[in-house]
Amino acid sequence: MTDVTRKALGAAVFYGWLTFMWWLASRSLLPSWVHDPVRLGEYQQTSGYLWVALSTLTLFMARRHLLGWLGGTHLLRQHREDHDRLRLASAVFDSTREGVLVTNNKAQIVHVNRAFVDITGYQPDEVLGHNPSKFKSGRHDADFYGQMYQAIEADGQWNGEIWNRRKSGEVYPQWQSIRGIKDADGQVRHFVAVFSDLSAIKRSEHERVQLAHFDALTGLPNRLLFTERTTEAVAAARANRRHCAILLLDLDHFKHINDSLGHSLGDLVLKSVAERLVGLFGAELTLARMGGDEFALLVKDCPQMAMTANLAQQVLEAFKAPFLIEDQALFITVSIGISLFPNDALSAEQLLRNADAALFKAKRGGRENYALYTEELTAHAQQRVELAGQLRRAIEQNELRVYYQPVHDLTTRCIRGVEALVRWEHPERGMVSPGEFIPIAEQSGLIGDIDNWVLRAACTQMGQWQAAGIALDFVAVNISSRRFIQGDLDLQVAAILADTGLDPALLELEVTESAVMHDPEQALEQLHRLRELGLSLAIDDFGTGYSSLLRLKRMPVQKLKIDQGFVAGLPADEDDIAIVCAIIALARSMGMKVLAEGIETAEQAAFLFENGCQLGQGYWFARPMPAARIDWACAPSARLRE
Ligand code: C2E
Ligand code: MG
Ligand code: MG
Repeated sequence: MTDVTRKALGAAVFYGWLTFMWWLASRSLLPSWVHDPVRLGEYQQTSGYLWVALSTLTLFMARRHLLGWLGGTHLLRQHREDHDRLRLASAVFDSTREGVLVTNNKAQIVHVNRAFVDITGYQPDEVLGHNPSKFKSGRHDADFYGQMYQAIEADGQWNGEIWNRRKSGEVYPQWQSIRGIKDADGQVRHFVAVFSDLSAIKRSEHERVQLAHFDALTGLPNRLLFTERTTEAVAAARANRRHCAILLLDLDHFKHINDSLGHSLGDLVLKSVAERLVGLFGAELTLARMGGDEFALLVKDCPQMAMTANLAQQVLEAFKAPFLIEDQALFITVSIGISLFPNDALSAEQLLRNADAALFKAKRGGRENYALYTEELTAHAQQRVELAGQLRRAIEQNELRVYYQPVHDLTTRCIRGVEALVRWEHPERGMVSPGEFIPIAEQSGLIGDIDNWVLRAACTQMGQWQAAGIALDFVAVNISSRRFIQGDLDLQVAAILADTGLDPALLELEVTESAVMHDPEQALEQLHRLRELGLSLAIDDFGTGYSSLLRLKRMPVQKLKIDQGFVAGLPADEDDIAIVCAIIALARSMGMKVLAEGIETAEQAAFLFENGCQLGQGYWFARPMPAARIDWACAPSARLRE
């Protein structure tokens, strides 16, 4: 028998019994004096009241048994149990450390617990009725939320890490479970999200990583992290066919400092050594403390091995100034071992081992020194450093020369202008090409002086040609990209123009594409300032950089010089043909002149002419030469006509 049937049966029996009692009371116990119909009516009314009073009293007295019989006790107990359960759930809900948030199926928040307030910083009245999207951190994209809703719909729940925003604006990670709650009809009416704050765990994770990967004394990466980064750098260098290098630095006689001044002072020395090295290299290179008095430097992209020698030289120079430790000036020197990938080693471990061997060599060589792993490389690098020293003197001792290479009009075949190209007349080595010493000058900071010197010489020479009646359109002077990004270039050019008295319209400055695109906004400003002086501007070696056409359009440039690498393939190489034609079309569409460099054959000259290139320069016309040797009779153009 079901609960409902049992109760219905009970109620029927109970009311049947009551009716029977009333009938008994009104009929069988009818007193004999009641024959008069009026008296009978009165009697029946009174007995009716009595019956109601009696049954109410009976019902009240027997309510417990009655209810028990009807199943009411069960209901009461259940009600009380439900009530207790709710109280318990509410206590758990409020005392749990996890934040709880309940929404209805219209995505409105209907309930939050105390932990929610603690974690998010929001009071209940600030969020009730709102959409939980209020807490979005902006860290996740629409896809993330899409997958989350999909999982809730499909599986009824979702668990995962999610970044939300506290009331304070702080973004924090939380581990969240969302579950849909169904009503008796099986419809999802509510969603419950339970979450815990992961920021403390993340923080301790970060601290653990920090401890495992960084040196506690100096805060620099430690050996473990350095090795990891070197492994990555080697892999990247291998994939991109590039070079990388490590420099291992070891303080000379550091043991003496520790022994004589104590370990705590020794620690201070190590700290200030680290600070000085960080100041020298900034965040560009990975600097690590490998342990003890050993530091290491990782050069991820090292196109020339002379670069490592230069870095080593910079470190040696930086150690020339004393370290001030507790009012004492300490002079400390350092020895450096260098190893290169792929020249010396093919793996990170080998690179470190070889740098160590090179360091040993440097120590043996008298300390305060550096050594490369390979003997011949050491010699070569030292030669470059030596050359840098000599280059410094070359300007003072007047060893630089300017050669001029004519630029021809491809239509009239006549010389229209010249490009100034620097040479170094070395007392022992003879004529050194700019390809060899310009990079050294750039690295050692001498390039500014050299470029200024060439510019002055070229402007003076151009003035002399003008005076002699040689009416050239322009003299072109190269400006190094290093020089170009120094802000005061325009001021120096203006000063040289004023000193030499040359009409600015006769001067053309050549900057490379990479210099212009390195910092386009700054370059644009500089180009405009130069242009305001009245000179013209050309982009050299065009096609080798990664010019943005949009930026190129905004630049006040009057000429593009097609890089000789593309001209070399003419007229056979299809790629070169396509690139050269595209550059010519581009220059023309932007109203610029176009010049082809490195023309070595008549076919190249003819091809360029036929395809609309206006100007050309190359060995086929004339090599770079001293000013006095230039043949002004347009002789090369006569050959083209034959
Ligand atoms: P660049 O400005 O592109 O100069 C053209 C280079 O190509 C010159 O080399 C020139 O001698 C060479 N060349 C000219 N015609 C031909 C040819 O038909 N075939 C071949 N294979 N080469 C040809 P150079 O004089 O050795 O100069 C090399 C680079 O050094 C220049 O390239 C320029 O970037 C730089 N440079 C030269 N002088 C200076 C200067 O005064 N300052 C600066 N910052 N850089 C300079
Ligand atoms: Mg040039
Ligand atoms: Mg060039």
